[in-house]
Amino acid sequence: QGQVMGGENVDNEAYQEEQEKSMAKSAHEKLLADRKTLPVYPYRESLLKAVEDHQVLVIVGETGSGKTTQIPQYLHEAGYTKRGMIGCTQPRRVAAMSVAARVSQEMNVKLGHEVGYSIRFEDCTSDKTVLKYMTDGMLLREFLGEPDLASYSVVMVDEAHERTLSTDILFGLVKDIARFRPDLKLLISSATLDAEKFSDYFDSAPIFKIPGRRFPVEINYTKAPEADYLDAAIVTALQIHVTQPPGDGDILVFLTGQEEIETAEEILKHRTRGLGSKIAELIICPIYANLPTELQAKIFEPTPEGARKVVLATNIAETSLTIDGIKYVIDPGFVKMKSYNPRTGMESLLITPISKASANQRAGRSGRTGPGKCFRLYTAYNYFNDLDDNTVPEIQRTNLANVVLSLKSLGIHDLLNFDFMDPPPAEALLKALELLFALSALNKHGELTKVGRKMAEFPLDPMLSKMIVASDKYQCSDEIISIAAMLSIGSSIFYRPKDKQVHADNARLNFHMGNVGDHIALLKVYSSWKETNFSTQWCYENYIQVRSMKRARDIRDQLEGLLERVEIELQSNPGDLEAIKKSITSGYFPHSAKMQKNGSYRTVKHPQTVYIHPSSGLAQVLPRWVVYHELVLTTKEYMRQVSELKPEWLVEIAPHYYQLKDVEDLASKKMPRGQGRAAKD
Ligand code: ADP
Ligand code: MG
Repeated sequence: QGQVMGGENVDNEAYQEEQEKSMAKSAHEKLLADRKTLPVYPYRESLLKAVEDHQVLVIVGETGSGKTTQIPQYLHEAGYTKRGMIGCTQPRRVAAMSVAARVSQEMNVKLGHEVGYSIRFEDCTSDKTVLKYMTDGMLLREFLGEPDLASYSVVMVDEAHERTLSTDILFGLVKDIARFRPDLKLLISSATLDAEKFSDYFDSAPIFKIPGRRFPVEINYTKAPEADYLDAAIVTALQIHVTQPPGDGDILVFLTGQEEIETAEEILKHRTRGLGSKIAELIICPIYANLPTELQAKIFEPTPEGARKVVLATNIAETSLTIDGIKYVIDPGFVKMKSYNPRTGMESLLITPISKASANQRAGRSGRTGPGKCFRLYTAYNYFNDLDDNTVPEIQRTNLANVVLSLKSLGIHDLLNFDFMDPPPAEALLKALELLFALSALNKHGELTKVGRKMAEFPLDPMLSKMIVASDKYQCSDEIISIAAMLSIGSSIFYRPKDKQVHADNARLNFHMGNVGDHIALLKVYSSWKETNFSTQWCYENYIQVRSMKRARDIRDQLEGLLERVEIELQSNPGDLEAIKKSITSGYFPHSAKMQKNGSYRTVKHPQTVYIHPSSGLAQVLPRWVVYHELVLTTKEYMRQVSELKPEWLVEIAPHYYQLKDVEDLASKKMPRGQGRAAKD
């Protein structure tokens, strides 16, 4: 009998395998059929012809028409990949990953084989890769190793309308190489209609329009401005869900960032639980830049019958990702943006009103598959009178130090005459040169130094890479790359569940013992985790996000590899906190601040009032002098990730930037004479 059973089992397995195969086959057939329903499909042949006839082509088509997923496949099918890869850039990492995943499914290949993606700190490609989706920043970095992009036959600068800093720089670089590489095809694709500008820039390149399908969208405004847009957004989402029949369409809410999205998710869960079984199921799908990969796919899963999906998204859903089935859009009218003051050289993240162009893109997301509705949580008056027409390109509102360093390493010296589509303010360029000079990355003539060359190898902000390069001198590169990795995660490290806040706060305080400052606390978190052999259990016990830690470990591994490349020895010096803090100061000395009488701080070089962020371990300690990682503007201008500093370090480390009077003038007022003078030694 055993044998019969065995036989049955084998048969069952074989049967199951067959079943799975045929299911997979039919799923794939459906994907292939879906490809043919996209708006771009009827234009496949004429598009291929246009690419063949012209070296540079501007492509315009509404979001969701199939530009990103289909065009690289068409080119591959037409044989372009025989001569080299097709690279397609995306402004956002999530978009690069998610689109690559989708295309690999459509082509029925394993992600990372023929179809791959490359984003900072994560390379999912192989020798086989012919379609490469990547962030615009990564292609920019590839120029450093391959200035003519010889391994590419086609470069598609996608989502060009987003006008990110990297995209704008890429424009100049690809335009230049196209001149001496006639075999290279350039596609510039955009979701908005201001394509003329791209065409003009690329020497009157022809524009290929993909007619979109768009259903009418009803726009609703609030009667009065909303005091709390997050709450208003949640209430609106619930109202739609409760009053509209389930199954008639999903909801998309635009929020400004991970924290806001997590708060909204928590509140929505709480309130729907309160309503119990009286209402249909509401599936909450968050999507933001640092969302773990395995959760990203959830937003694309079809909504089960009788339920409704509510997608809580950052600006990523404005044009980069298309989610099918959205009928309602809730638009609070805000976005988190970098802003930069070229006078002071200070950069800060802040939540600002969107532009009219953005508002219209957002509304359009509801009318893709049928008539839609958009709820703007601001007044019609606001829309018409207060919102700018277009978003200012990033190049005009950001710190350019990173880009200037990359361009300098590419041998581009005359930055003022670089072929910018919209030039950055000259002041911002000068500020960047000044900073790089202060960091010793450039010499007096504006040429790259040895230090600068090493810094350029790291895919990090110049201050962060300088901190790493400087750690060589202080013999603590091991500790410094851990800190750099922890600072680069981009998502929160500490976990603070509502019902266990006291426990979580106590766990966090452990790492701050001795008021060591936030940088050292980050190091302690990393080292302790490493000591437990990267234990997940340990993370739970200490209210630490496992995922963030794993990401830190990945980043750290890569930084370790890069250390070797720039010939910096991995040296550990865990006991010498002063050496570690001096390395940090070597990169971050422009970010130093001194305490004022009222507990606020004043930045040293370009005086401005700032505060220690309440989440900092030093928020209650208020050391006299601090160095900070970044500024975040919420209710006040806050310094985030703060460590204590000795003012004499500034003069010791950056004598060309700080004179004695900078640290003395500010220090001596309250200090007894003798102490004030001590700084001189
Ligand atoms: P465009 O670039 O013109 O905005 P895309 O090529 O991104 O258009 O999208 C075409 C279609 O592919 C959309 O209908 C979208 O729903 C689908 N799609 C894109 N990415 C994914 C994904 N990761 N998962 C599921 N569907 C996707
Ligand atoms: Mg796209």
